[in-house]
Amino acid sequence: MLRDSNRVSSVSQLLCPVRDCHLPLARRERTLACERGHSFDIARSGYVNLLQPQDRRSANPGDTETAIAARRRLHDRGVTRPLAEGIAAMLHLQPDDEVLDAGCGDGFYLDHMVREAECSGRGVDISVASIDAAARRYPECEWIVANADRFVPYADASFSVVLSITARHNAPEFHRVLTRDGRLLVALPSPDDLAELRGPGRDRVQRTIEAFSKDFALTNQERVSASADFGVDEVRDVLHSIYRPLRSKPVEATRLTFSLDLLLFRPVTS
Ligand SMILES: [Zn+2]
Repeated sequence: MLRDSNRVSSVSQLLCPVRDCHLPLARRERTLACERGHSFDIARSGYVNLLQPQDRRSANPGDTETAIAARRRLHDRGVTRPLAEGIAAMLHLQPDDEVLDAGCGDGFYLDHMVREAECSGRGVDISVASIDAAARRYPECEWIVANADRFVPYADASFSVVLSITARHNAPEFHRVLTRDGRLLVALPSPDDLAELRGPGRDRVQRTIEAFSKDFALTNQERVSASADFGVDEVRDVLHSIYRPLRSKPVEATRLTFSLDLLLFRPVTS
């Protein structure tokens, strides 16, 4: 939380993203700065952009404005709410939990989790547009633009829970920022997810468990799904949200299934 509230104190958990620096960042008026003088402006909406030049895979990395707006309309219609409720039910967050959402997008899921549990939440995403949208809508959380594939800009053992919801995985960094008794929740699109639009998908569960096995052990596994009837405009929003706006067939009203495989892990120490 970067505004004037009780949670400002925890800003010190943030680390300088400059390669080979990684010193704590402290707030100085409208910037965050490390002792070596690397400084980062706090945006008007409250987020901080810690992206480094080498992090920018393209001039405008991350989500497009069109996809963000489409996804937001879907959230506002409630179609993704059962998925958020499924994740929350698996985690049973408590008020003293410290939650990081790595690859948080527009912040919908993180906000749902922390509002219900009244705990603190921090979201990191590589998309400036997504983080700006998150900061405007959910000022109670801390929002950071950074490339978590390279470096999660927080001190060791900063979090009791790390979320990775249909995002990219960085097992060593997730392990580093979690407490020893922390929990990692990974949500993957299940084979049923939007199968009406894109056909049956791959089952990613086993491959993901293996990819995390050096740092994490699986403790629980569930699938959460929701189906609803969608009009033409809504189907178009879904297609935009998954970057498939162009199709040979005209868009038609249809019933769609959203489905996530949820994997809960605990860190293992070698
Ligand atoms: Zn620095």
